[in-house]
Parts: sequence; structure tokens; C-alpha cells
Amino acid sequence: MKNIRTRYAPSPTGFLHIGGARTALFNYLFAKHFGGTFIFRLEDTDVARNVMGGEESQLNNLAWLGIIPDESPLKPNKKYGNYRQSEKLEIYQEFAQKLINKGFAYKAYDNSEELELQHKQQEVNGVASFRYDPNWLQISNEEKQRRDANKEYSIRLKLKKNTVYGWEDLVRGWIEVNSDDIGDFVIIKSDGYPTYNFAVVVDDHQMEISHVLRGEEHITNTPKQLAIYESLNWTPPVFGHLTIITNMEGKKLSKRDKTLKQFIEDYKNDGYHPHAIFNFLSLLGWTSKDSQEIMSHEELIEKFDPERLSKSPSKFDIVKMDWFSKQYIKKLDNEVIIKKINSPFNTEWNNLFVETYKQSASTISEIKNNLNIYINPKTSHNFEITEIAKNVIQIFSKELTMSEFTIENIQKSIENTKQELNIKGKDLFMPIRIATTFEEHGPELAKAIFLFGKEIVLERLKKWN
Ligand code: GLU
Repeated sequence: MKNIRTRYAPSPTGFLHIGGARTALFNYLFAKHFGGTFIFRLEDTDVARNVMGGEESQLNNLAWLGIIPDESPLKPNKKYGNYRQSEKLEIYQEFAQKLINKGFAYKAYDNSEELELQHKQQEVNGVASFRYDPNWLQISNEEKQRRDANKEYSIRLKLKKNTVYGWEDLVRGWIEVNSDDIGDFVIIKSDGYPTYNFAVVVDDHQMEISHVLRGEEHITNTPKQLAIYESLNWTPPVFGHLTIITNMEGKKLSKRDKTLKQFIEDYKNDGYHPHAIFNFLSLLGWTSKDSQEIMSHEELIEKFDPERLSKSPSKFDIVKMDWFSKQYIKKLDNEVIIKKINSPFNTEWNNLFVETYKQSASTISEIKNNLNIYINPKTSHNFEITEIAKNVIQIFSKELTMSEFTIENIQKSIENTKQELNIKGKDLFMPIRIATTFEEHGPELAKAIFLFGKEIVLERLKKWN
């Protein structure tokens, strides 16, 4: 097999989105699985949409996830040219000129009003989707020369008539489109910038990209890119178009949907475990042969198999994401978490606190938030206490007051209450939890109680004695 080289090529128009992260991850896993190279490069020619710091933020978020490119604008391999499209505008121009010289592309002099008119006329004539007609524009030779001198033209690829452009898609199998359904399309815009389809072909060729995994929204671009490869007499890479990611209702994720955290930055700020997200994203459109779900980076690299990329949309299930994160947070060393939660208490206390709370937290922020109930203990609560509950609390309180304040004794007191009243489960735990922690929910009860310290707990229980 030839050298495997894959790439992730975002536009620096904002933060790293779940969809982008998944594309980057699959290209990364693909390259690493086959011992290849993963490249990050930038499609930054849409100047109006670029945001300051876009490139840096994409790279930082990828690094946080554990996706480190082998080559990038910061780590270029000179052999492959520049890694930002804005730095290679002349190269696109040169190749466009070559295509003009070979008769495979031409200057189109229509201005925007004329193009709009052509669109409208086709609409009126019932043409379903616009096809550029190179003979539509009728202007005098002088006018043509004037526009030419002022560089008032775009460059379009001259498509061969009735020619099939097809490819064996890694995910979907054979796909083909007839050139007559496309029409001559712009490769260099009138402002001199290349279009996406043209620049991406030049970049992929120059960087010797072997495999392209990208979102299914690019399926319609692929035949155009194949036509460009053919005109330049270059070999195209292997393409695979990943299926869309939907919300739980089955609708395509929209960046405008504010009800769902969709940016990696959001998960980072909330204290999710990056390995959990890496792992979770790997299962958005891919499954391991042995159906294993929790997998380390190394395992994923080893198991990644492009044959197992899914053909149906993948649901973004935040509950599952939280579950993944829980599995990873649980395994973190206490010290790592302690460093991040800013606790005013001593090491012994912090250790017990983190050990107790990390068992069921999906994020470090969640653990940190729980610290508040110990830093600023509530002085009252509003939960209703039934007569039976009252009884439970009284017995528990009597038991606990008689013994030394240790986790074991708290546990024993719960046990004795259970025996004495012959109740169990929620009826036993809930009254005790509310009376001692002033919370309805929490981690392992004896530990949660112990963390408040003797003074606070006995004070809270006093009224039940
Ligand atoms: N900048 C494009 C995108 O983010 C890259 C498309 C491609 O991979 O060819 O969708």
C-alpha cells in the first residue's frame, strides 16, 4: 500500500465543533492504524468568515482531545508546501492558468448582475438546478477586452459532456454523477481567490493525501473534484463520506441549536474527561468488531477499521457521553482532580471527598460544585419529613450519638436502624440523607455524612433526639 496520508482541513471560522472533531478523529485513527501521517491544514480563503484565533483554537482543542497532527502550519514539512491556503494563492492561479492553456478551463466574463439574470431565465424556463451556459453572455469584443484588462472575470472548469464521474466510496460504495448534471463551475473567483473545490484538489495532490474522510455534505463536491483531477492528470485519493450526526430527534445537528453543547470548548470548560470524548466520538459512525465501547487511544488506533464505518446517521446522545465521561473520571487519580477543584480543606479530607464524589460524576465541575455544600453548609432544608421518616432519623441519631464519629460507625448506625425498624432501600436512606446532609441526592451515604464532620452532623441531628 502506498504511504497513508490523511488530513483534517477546517476553515478557521470558529471553535471546534463535534462534527469537525469527529472528522479529524477518524482521519487521525485511519492514519495511525495504518502507520501513516495525519495532517492539519487550513482552508482560510473565505476571508470574511475567518475569525481571529480560529486556527489556534482548532489546534488547541484537538490537542486537548489528544489529536496531535504530524504536520500542520506550525509543524510544516517543506516538501509539501504551505499549510494555509491564504499563503499559496499564486499556486492556485498557476494551475488555473495551466488549465486555461490546455483548454480545460476558461475565463467567464459575466458580472454578478448578468449571472443573476441567467439564473432567473433558467428558473422561468423551468430548469431544476442551474447549469452555467458559456454562450449566454453576449458582449462586444471591446467590452470583453476591458473586463479582461481589469481582471473582471472568474475562471471556470470546462466540463466534458456526458461523462460519468464516479468513485468507490469507503463508506457508501460506488457513487457516480454525470457531468451534464453539474455544469461548468468556478475554480477561481473574480477576486482571484480559488473556490473550495479547486483549492482542495491542489492541496490534496500537493500533500500527497491518500485517503479523504469527510462529511456527507461534500458528496456533491466529489464529482467536481474528480473532474479537476482528470483535467490536471492527477490521481485522486480514496474518498469516504461519513454519515451525518443527528440530535436525539433524528435531525441534523445545527450549530445554532443552543440546547445542546456542540463545541469541544464547552466540554473542556465543563471539566469533561478528554479521553471520554475521544472515545465517545470514535463511536459516532463507527463500531468495533468486538462491540467493546470503552477503549483507550491505543486500542482505538489498533481496532480502527474503515470497513466498519456506519452507513446510517449517528445520534449524538448526551446521556451516553456523560456515561462515558463517568467511566473515565472514576479512574482519574485523586490528586489530578484535587488540583482542579480549589478546596480549602486538608489533604486527607480532600482525598476522601474526591474518592467519594468521583464515583458518580461526569465532569470535574460537578465534583467541584459538590464542594460547596461542605464549604457553606446549609442551615436548613425544605424537604418534607413523614412520621415514618422521623422515626428512622430518630433511631439513626440515637445510634450515631452513642458511638465515635467514624465512617464505619456511621455505616453501623445505618445498619442498626435498618435492623431495628425492618426497613430498607429508599425508606431507610432518604430520611437519613436529608437529615444529615440536607440533600436529597448524593454519593455513598456514610462517606457523604462523614465529610460534614461531627460537629455539623450532630448539630443537624440534635432536633430529632
Ligand atoms: N473545509 C472543509 C470543511 O470543513 C474541508 C472539506 C474537505 O475535507 O474536503 O468541510
